[in-house]
Amino acid sequence: MAATSTPVIIGAGPAGLTAGLQLLRRGVTPRILEASAHVGGLARTPVDGAWRIDPGGHRFFTKSEEVADLWRSLLPADQWIAVPRRSAMLVDGHFVRYPLRGRDLMWQRGIGKGLRGLGSLMWSRIRTGPHIVQDSVSFRDWGTYEFGRQWYQTFFDGYVRKTWLTEPDDIASDWANQRIKPIDWRLRSISDRQNADVFRYPRLGPGQLWDAAAAVLQAGGAAPVLNCRMVKARFDGESWTLCLDNGDTLDTGAVFASMPLHQLIEALEPLPPKHIRAVAARLRHRSLITVAVALSQRREIPFHWVYTPGAEFRCGRIQNYSLWSPDLQPAGWRGTHLGFEYFLDADSATFTVDDDHLMKIVHGDLHALGFGGCPVEHVMITRSQHAYPVHDATRERRVRRIRNFLATDYPTLYPIGRNGMHHYDNQDHAMLSAMQSVAKYFGADIDPWQANTDRHYHETGLTSG
Ligand SMILES: Cc1cc2nc3c(=O)[nH]c(=O)nc-3n(C[C@H](O)[C@H](O)[C@H](O)COP(=O)(O)OP(=O)(O)OC[C@H]3O[C@@H](n4cnc5c(N)ncnc54)[C@H](O)[C@@H]3O)c2cc1C
Repeated sequence: MAATSTPVIIGAGPAGLTAGLQLLRRGVTPRILEASAHVGGLARTPVDGAWRIDPGGHRFFTKSEEVADLWRSLLPADQWIAVPRRSAMLVDGHFVRYPLRGRDLMWQRGIGKGLRGLGSLMWSRIRTGPHIVQDSVSFRDWGTYEFGRQWYQTFFDGYVRKTWLTEPDDIASDWANQRIKPIDWRLRSISDRQNADVFRYPRLGPGQLWDAAAAVLQAGGAAPVLNCRMVKARFDGESWTLCLDNGDTLDTGAVFASMPLHQLIEALEPLPPKHIRAVAARLRHRSLITVAVALSQRREIPFHWVYTPGAEFRCGRIQNYSLWSPDLQPAGWRGTHLGFEYFLDADSATFTVDDDHLMKIVHGDLHALGFGGCPVEHVMITRSQHAYPVHDATRERRVRRIRNFLATDYPTLYPIGRNGMHHYDNQDHAMLSAMQSVAKYFGADIDPWQANTDRHYHETGLTSG
């Protein structure tokens, strides 16, 4: 049942802002605390003069009408652009379209390689039953069944190692069913027609949407408070006292928390039992550094995303911002605007590696791309610490234990969003978890932890979000 005092929301990313909007719509004005200096969380748009970047490359896609309605209500139609999705993997100097197409696999890198790949796929299918795509198995087993050993090695093994920084055997396959599309074996005309996949995008980048959400909240008296980190959450069995990093405290009847789940557990007072803290401490994250480089020469790359699984690249993926939206660059600028993505351990020292060192790595990758001599006109570096909640074999079990513990001991605490639930969610699922948590706060019999359990939800490119 709804508490009478003002609820507090931790985090002004997509989940926290959505929770705020939902509460406001139902007549409750929340307080929203945001640790960083900006709203939008991972889906913000860093700006430097007339340059903007999207640190993750955010495709707006959802199967939920509720989410789509909210997007439409926040930005007028003329602020959305339609972007045809084009992504590729750069392998041995060839751009191979992603999602993979049978005809490219057979011909593009030579018929010999094509036939070997096909033979390897048939052998994997004969050796392993289709149960593997239903069960939770290792990523390597899933990938070998789905693509055959050869194509798995060529296209996925290196990229997954770069993203998750571990052996593909240590990563569970549960997210792969949602995120990696199978090979398209259809004839050219049919697949070209049906693959004309167009996604929506705010013309000034994803943060434009979340700035608009913050403006609505501000107008409703619930402006997110920036540079304000929640560091302790004391619960006396009925109400909460939240301690902030500036020394202030806030009393409340309910807390919606999108901060990383393991940090939430450590912030609770009294501290949860040892076994729960131990379970939470093993939830891991990957961080992301995006280096956006504007080259003054125009070089054509006809893809929005280019995955770079090979060892010749240190980055895991390259964004081509000029194709995402012309408004991410100064008006009339005609160069090449690229974003190099580096995946790191969330707590490793390399996350804070200095910019000069980072630029040496980027120059190496520019060279590998064949753009070594191009003059660099502008650089933007963005660090996202908890970018990817790691899905290893124990994640599901650990999260379930924490979830059950919180449900019984802290009924007015609502973990929401990607890191709040430690689930590899895109914006729409992070938002849905917030919408459902607000419904629960108002008494609905609903389980927000089930917001993203559709195994066949195919959204972006390979592990793009
Ligand atoms: C590389 C990459 C590509 C992506 N691509 C896509 C895509 O194509 N499409 C798509 O829809 N989604 C994509 N996503 C996912 C999308 O960014 C997330 O789903 C979304 O941002 C999750 O929202 P959230 O509010 O749950 O979490 P976050 O965005 O992480 O926001 C959480 C907020 O909480 C704040 N916070 C943390 N701790 C505290 C504290 N103690 N006190 C106060 N505030 C705190 C943080 O500063 C942050 O602002 C991508 C993500 C990445 C990393």
